[in-house]
Amino acid sequence: MRGEAEANCWLNGQLMPVTEARLPVMDHAVLYGDGVFEGMRFYRRQPFRMQQHLQRLEHSATALALTIPYDRATLESAIKALIAGFPADDGYLRLVVTRGIGSMGLDPASCGRGNVFIIATTLTMIAPEQRRQGVRAVITSTRRLPRDGLDPRIKSLNYLNHILARIEARNGGADDGILLNAQGLVTEATAANIFIVSAGELLTPPVSDGALAGITRREIIELAVAEGLPCRQQSLAPYDLYTADECFFTGTGAELMAVSEIDGRAIKSSPGPVFERLQALYFIACGQQVSALS
Ligand code: PMP
Repeated sequence: MRGEAEANCWLNGQLMPVTEARLPVMDHAVLYGDGVFEGMRFYRRQPFRMQQHLQRLEHSATALALTIPYDRATLESAIKALIAGFPADDGYLRLVVTRGIGSMGLDPASCGRGNVFIIATTLTMIAPEQRRQGVRAVITSTRRLPRDGLDPRIKSLNYLNHILARIEARNGGADDGILLNAQGLVTEATAANIFIVSAGELLTPPVSDGALAGITRREIIELAVAEGLPCRQQSLAPYDLYTADECFFTGTGAELMAVSEIDGRAIKSSPGPVFERLQALYFIACGQQVSALS
């Protein structure tokens, strides 16, 4: 039975329960991780920054010479249908576009039409208690892939070095890892961008240092500018993180997450006043009730 509430997956135009959604084993997304994805939240049944997410999905696909077999309007309708059928007002959507079925061998020329699916689900990255206390992070030995290897702006189905960094962090007793680039500069966390507050300024590494161009990152920069908070994109070294007054991660899944400790160095203020202010503004922008935070 395909009840309304169970239709939490859209696969190539069909709504179905996610437990029924299947991908062929010869899809190059399965064989090679050849595909792109997006993670998007919805609040009060409204997708948050949907156009930005769809645009990033299109750009990721274009950069990989991958054709998305549906236009934006079709994907928008699919997103709206999934949200309408979701049992809660808030949730998380995962959009995936695969290279499609091809012959064995990595040349995508053999692939036909890509598969597209969108899953509606819930996502709790961390317990509310930990969100209040802040997460412990370590700088991992696993580096962010260099731009001339795979441009970090492409949100591809290849997250292996981020997964390795997360394993390394967990093995070291931390909650998350921070990846440096080949030059030893800070890029981002395993699935979130990073900000620090130092001498009254909000700082985040430029995307060109090797981070994903996060949609939450952009939102936070815009909110900070609107608040008159000095904000700059600047390369950061581990030293800058250790000596920061505040540090936090941003992402669709993470939302805003205070960092309490990095490599055993306690961050001076966690959660700090700038974090608290920006988090409140962010939740207002999302349409969430600020009281939900306390
Ligand atoms: N960096 C990486 C590697 C990510 O996977 C994510 C999550 N999409 C982010 C940063 C944050 O990006 P956004 O705010 O667009 O979710």
